[in-house]
Amino acid sequence: MEKDIIIIGGGPSGLSTALHLQRSAPELSERMVVFEKARYPRPKLCAGGLVADAEVLLEGLGLDVSEIPHVDGTGAHFDFAGTGITIRVPGTHTLRIIRRDEFDAWLAGKARERGIEIREGVTVKKVQTDALGVTVETNSEVFRAQIVIGADGSNGIVRRCILPGEPVYTARVLEVLVTPNDSKKHAEKEAYFDFFPVPDGIAGYTWDFPTQLKGLPVRCWGIYDANLPDLAGGKRAALKETLAVEMARHGYRLHDLELKGHPIRWFDPLNKLSVSRVLLVGDAAGVDSIFGEGISMALGYGKVAANEIVQAFRKNDFNLKSYRRRILLSPLGQTLIHRWFITYIIYTLRWKWFQILLWRFMKPIVILVAWFLVLNWAKRMPATVSRPAS
Ligand SMILES: Cc1cc2nc3c(=O)[nH]c(=O)nc-3n(C[C@H](O)[C@H](O)[C@H](O)COP(=O)(O)OP(=O)(O)OC[C@H]3O[C@@H](n4cnc5c(N)ncnc54)[C@H](O)[C@@H]3O)c2cc1C
Repeated sequence: MEKDIIIIGGGPSGLSTALHLQRSAPELSERMVVFEKARYPRPKLCAGGLVADAEVLLEGLGLDVSEIPHVDGTGAHFDFAGTGITIRVPGTHTLRIIRRDEFDAWLAGKARERGIEIREGVTVKKVQTDALGVTVETNSEVFRAQIVIGADGSNGIVRRCILPGEPVYTARVLEVLVTPNDSKKHAEKEAYFDFFPVPDGIAGYTWDFPTQLKGLPVRCWGIYDANLPDLAGGKRAALKETLAVEMARHGYRLHDLELKGHPIRWFDPLNKLSVSRVLLVGDAAGVDSIFGEGISMALGYGKVAANEIVQAFRKNDFNLKSYRRRILLSPLGQTLIHRWFITYIIYTLRWKWFQILLWRFMKPIVILVAWFLVLNWAKRMPATVSRPAS
């Protein structure tokens, strides 16, 4: 079967690409399909923390995430061993926490309402390019397309097919859900990040977020390690044991709970993002390396990718060479570069005294850096291009 555009993966990056394309070039989206190997609502390991940038991008698409179950986090704590910086946004939530099965199913529902074709239960097995198009082999049929978008996450097949042998930087992440106990060390509606594992060779933090399952309060705990290549040879504490010790301080026995892990591919400025006729978005391209924050990034990639695709059809030139530059020069690319740089500073300077200084005494500097280099990028994203002349 022939399509103009095939999007592989129906997570936030694939659906954002589809929604932005539908908005800027409805005539193109009529010959577009999204393949999703699972069925909604499908499980996705993720703490579900949505920063304001994600909401800005959703609002730009005319979507209001408060329609789905969520918890409004009233504050975010960035600590070293239990003490540090607290950030609150006056008059509104600091972080909104959703469940990914609900969020992704909602986003897919919105896409369908706008006429976007999504085929669930279709697993892509192989992607191959040639001078005239792309062949996409699935578990059911073989398709041909002019352009393919790899939105299939950190372990995706598309990157492996088009860029075999390219270096891959992946964070190690573990997560567990727990019924809240009555330990009052953490406030009910606040999110906590604790960087105490950095001196032990873990390039990251433990987290504790408030969330909900079917309306009942739950805490989502986890540990993130950017797994920096420069630190890989050194001695590192075990992730699970480090999380277990921290949770025990809060009265939880990790060993009684179901711990799950999934990698997050992070952005490196040298990452290749496309080949002729195929481009990557979201985790497949690489997201934030400091925190592993990827939902807002996935939505942002979708917007830039849509612009690139509309231009490609407008010029009838599918080499997609300008995609990488378009990403790097965009506010999304700028924050990804800044975050990559900051990752190497804060996680390679792993002395305990530096971490204490950073998280406990440098609040004005941390807030300034966060405000100008890490957050608030989405409202500066360029508008979607107007529809191509017919
Ligand atoms: C433990 C953990 C906690 C996290 N917490 C946060 C957080 O709090 N906030 C935040 O912003 N980010 C968080 N992230 C990161 C975030 O989950 C990802 O960055 C985000 O999901 C990326 O979206 P995506 O659409 O690129 O990929 P995904 O969400 O992974 O979607 C990829 C989709 O492609 C489908 N797919 C894969 N292979 C194929 C195939 N061959 N054929 C067809 N379909 C396919 C999959 O089923 C999936 O639906 C977390 C990640 C992890 C692992």
